[in-house]
Amino acid sequence: MDLRVRALQTVLTDKGYIDPAALDVLIDTYQTKVGPRNGARVVARAWVDPDFRSWLRRDATAAIASLGYAGRQGEHMQVVENTPDTHHMVVCTLCSCYPWPVLGLPPAWYKSAPYRSRAVREPRAVLAEFGVTLPEATQVRVWDSTAELRYLVLPMRPAGTEGLDEAALADWVTRDSMIGTGLPRPPVSADALQPA
Ligand code: FE
Repeated sequence: MDLRVRALQTVLTDKGYIDPAALDVLIDTYQTKVGPRNGARVVARAWVDPDFRSWLRRDATAAIASLGYAGRQGEHMQVVENTPDTHHMVVCTLCSCYPWPVLGLPPAWYKSAPYRSRAVREPRAVLAEFGVTLPEATQVRVWDSTAELRYLVLPMRPAGTEGLDEAALADWVTRDSMIGTGLPRPPVSADALQPA
């Protein structure tokens, strides 16, 4: 795949269709400026602000754009909200469609053939491999992203976070919890890294 992409880039550059410097700017943007912290801020806002949360349900694209996150691969967003009854999980069975403006570039496993096929066939087994075990009664819904529509999972606000403000809550939101292959978890604090 790398070789094919490089070959394609060479041909397009030679023909004058693309400018390698412009490509570098795009890649740098998504590697260093846009990433899952954007999505984490969306989730944290939804946890503290019921109006924002219902806006997300009605028109995720606009609600997310109101925080400044919009653009390529995020033109049409849908937020799927986890509840005690239903856990949502996102895949792109065809390729690797992913909501770039809120999550950055997809992790390698998201693009892998095993994830793309197994997420639909045996989602619970895949979740278990990610360390997520849900109650039997919880239904798992798998959403197949397309080039037109991208999904962001709104995880449940964890118990024990009642006293936290929006910024502190955002630190609990992991990338995987917004794909549905993980759950929010406490941030690793500097103290926790000190030897006891
Ligand atoms: Fe895709």
